[in-house]
Amino acid sequence: MSNTEVKDGVLIVGDAPGGNYRAEVIRQGLKLPPGRLYHTNIYHDDWCGIWSGRKCNCDPDIVMRPHAAEDEG
Ligand SMILES: [Zn+2]
Repeated sequence: MSNTEVKDGVLIVGDAPGGNYRAEVIRQGLKLPPGRLYHTNIYHDDWCGIWSGRKCNCDPDIVMRPHAAEDEG
C-alpha cells in the first residue's frame, strides 16, 4: 500500500487488494494519533461478495477520519 495520504485531516488509505482489507485497516490505524475516535469507511464494489453473504473479493477503498461534532446525533 503506497497511496496513503492525509487530506483535510482524513486518512485516505487507498484500496486493499483482494478483499484483504482488515489487516490494512489495522496497519494504517496504528499510524493514527492516539486519544481520538476515528471512523473507518470501507467502500466495496457493487459486485463484491460481501453483499451476498460471502467474503469480500474486491479491492475496497478505505477511508479513516477523526470523529467530528457533525457525527453527534
Ligand atoms: Zn469487497
